[in-house]
Amino acid sequence: MTYSGRVAIITGGRRGIGRAIACELSGRGAHIVIADRLEDAAADAAQQITSECGSRTISIPTDVTVPEAVQELVDKTLAEFGRVDILVNNAGITRDNLLMRMSEEDWDQVLAVNLKGAWNCCRAVIRPMMKARYGRIVNISSVSGLAGQAGQTNYSASKAGLIGMSKALAREVASRGITVNAVAPGFIPTYLTESLPQELKDGMMKLIPLGRWGKPEEIAYAVAFLASDEAAYITGQVLSVDGGMMMM
Ligand code: NAD
Repeated sequence: MTYSGRVAIITGGRRGIGRAIACELSGRGAHIVIADRLEDAAADAAQQITSECGSRTISIPTDVTVPEAVQELVDKTLAEFGRVDILVNNAGITRDNLLMRMSEEDWDQVLAVNLKGAWNCCRAVIRPMMKARYGRIVNISSVSGLAGQAGQTNYSASKAGLIGMSKALAREVASRGITVNAVAPGFIPTYLTESLPQELKDGMMKLIPLGRWGKPEEIAYAVAFLASDEAAYITGQVLSVDGGMMMM
């Protein structure tokens, strides 16, 4: 699979899974726009990806919860590269707590970044993609959105919501050559999972048939496939990359 000349926006791409996706697509010839809210860290990551992984990577500091900022991200991408072919909605946060202790603010924040942030980005790229009659949108969901996770009513709802959104949008834009899919990672050690209690991690490990945690690159390979020309006949799907955790 090659992505030569393609342009990909990756939200939350400065570290963790997003960075691995940026590196994988860059290594395969796509130009990358890292859309992360932390300006300096995102600029450093873009420089490193350009020198270590392959194609030109730039950063456009963006908070995905702000629709105007997201529109500016897409406008600047079009001004810089003339096209946007791939959108990976990867930016995500957790604010875990049991429902009876969860604040309304924690609910709102997680939904605002994980679900509405992705919707903002889809809304901003969809016109140029429709005009080009080409697009690949990959939304990063989670096993937590498929099975639910105690202590994550906000996060599970946001990740399940992404799946519904992916399927609805897939139907809306299929006739224009745009595919919309979701990837549902299992447990991937990153900053996001650092603070999870050890008992929870031990419990999760017992549910993984492959008997190990996943790596950010293993999510990136799945995203790269769904973002490729070769995946043209796959839309509205959820691909679990979780060591068999969600096998049914
Ligand atoms: P991470 O915390 O390392 O990376 C998340 C990135 O999102 C960060 O760079 C952060 O700055 C960025 N971000 C947060 N809020 C933002 C905003 N408002 N606007 C723009 N960028 C913002 O976490 P990660 O583990 O790499 O997670 C990446 C994605 O994968 C998330 O959507 C997460 O929910 C999902 N996921 C992770 C796991 C896992 O086990 N790590 C499992 C399932 C799903």
